Amino acid sequence: MLRVVVVGGGWAGCAASLTAKKAGADEVLLIERCDMLLGTGLVGGIMRNNGRYTAAEEGIAMGCGELFEVADHVSRHKNIEFPGHKHAFLYDITAIEPAVKKKLLCYGVDVLTETRITDIKRAGQAITSVITAQGREIPGDIFVETTGTAGPAGNCAKFGNGCVMCIYRCPTFGPRVSIAGRAGIKEKMGVNTDGSTGAMSGSCKLHKESLSDDIIRELQQKGVVVRPIPEFLKKGDKMLARKACQQYAGKDFADNVVLLDTGHAKLMSPYFPLELLRQVPGFEKARFEDPYSGGIGNSIRFLAISPVNRYLQTKGLENLFCAGEKAGPLVGHTEAIITGSLAGHNGVRQAKGFPLIKIPETLACGDILDQVNKALETEEGLAKRYTFSGGLYFQRMQEKGTYSTDREEIKRRVDQSGMMGIFDGPIR
Ligand SMILES: Cc1cc2nc3c(=O)[nH]c(=O)nc-3n(C[C@H](O)[C@H](O)[C@H](O)COP(=O)(O)OP(=O)(O)OC[C@H]3O[C@@H](n4cnc5c(N)ncnc54)[C@H](O)[C@@H]3O)c2cc1C
Repeated sequence: MLRVVVVGGGWAGCAASLTAKKAGADEVLLIERCDMLLGTGLVGGIMRNNGRYTAAEEGIAMGCGELFEVADHVSRHKNIEFPGHKHAFLYDITAIEPAVKKKLLCYGVDVLTETRITDIKRAGQAITSVITAQGREIPGDIFVETTGTAGPAGNCAKFGNGCVMCIYRCPTFGPRVSIAGRAGIKEKMGVNTDGSTGAMSGSCKLHKESLSDDIIRELQQKGVVVRPIPEFLKKGDKMLARKACQQYAGKDFADNVVLLDTGHAKLMSPYFPLELLRQVPGFEKARFEDPYSGGIGNSIRFLAISPVNRYLQTKGLENLFCAGEKAGPLVGHTEAIITGSLAGHNGVRQAKGFPLIKIPETLACGDILDQVNKALETEEGLAKRYTFSGGLYFQRMQEKGTYSTDREEIKRRVDQSGMMGIFDGPIR
């Protein structure tokens, strides 16, 4: 009887649960502290933009396509463009969580929400069980940590502008707790080029009905609205420099209000003082949805990065695997799904005595992990953010020639790398 316990129900945890189950774990338990799965994925929505298209198709060819298919299925807009970004899909943030949960249940994953892990028990180099805030002990053979790097409120106060009431809802469900941290593993904090710690989440949600009729109409029809910010309201580059998502920190985003239709109106700015926003034509009655105090600030992330190897095994613990933001300064749902898929699969390999696998560097999904792994060894590396969708890593994809939107070509590459369908069935 092989039991895998996944702690943290964001995109990385959902992906790890699926591949662990498909690889042959008898029981997979996904534990989430909030009342909904998906973590920061509950307020994101942008998929397949720039190199994320390639990565999603690599994932599908490798056999971990279920979550990409769910996201595609509930997309409100497909193949849209916004400044610096091509062929983006925008999933509906209201429809996505129930759809993902249904998929997990279909595969036989046991989902436990409103359950926060606050401690662990270990024997030597192995974790033997995790302990809930209510004191319940949950044993397992393999553990996957996908607890993310956001908050809690104390960190948002220390490194940001305070708790801004984001989707994490720390005051309600209790702070994020790191499993590796509880096991005594030394974690790292992301920094910024200006020396500050952590990164401020880069977008807010506006209540769509609070915008002018023409903005609502354009948003619903095209999926994107770009409105110039009047000269006297421009905020300068200081706020953008702290963004978690450097791919959205260019001049276009400083000079314009950029909105995307993910159900709510996604404002591509870490925060925007409400009194200033209301001076932009069409935004006179604007109201924030997430974070509720989006006029003041946003959540702070990248505060607890685990040391991991290329197999996504947490260094210092033989049965703990790790994925998503927790495994490095990786930004994005796609990045979380790919790393989660590898961590869940390798967890089962470890338990069954098979050699662990890494995704080869000939694939964008393997190369980004290699780059992140190297970056984590240096001080400068902790100031970088890695995403297929922009910044330095998308530039690398273009230079290496791994960026492609040609599905057949991507499939061929995955086949040549020996990874075709690897995550799709039981390990033998
Ligand atoms: C506002 C915002 C907008 C974004 N927009 C996009 C976008 O459009 N497209 C994109 O690709 N990326 C976007 N991102 C980035 C993306 O959401 C993340 O990089 C990615 O989803 C991280 O996934 P994760 O699973 O690693 O972590 P998280 O999403 O942080 O999930 C971690 C989960 O673990 C749970 N947890 C933590 N501690 C415990 C514990 N002790 N016990 C039980 N559960 C615990 C948390 O409640 C949470 O649900 C956005 C991020 C933010 C904040």
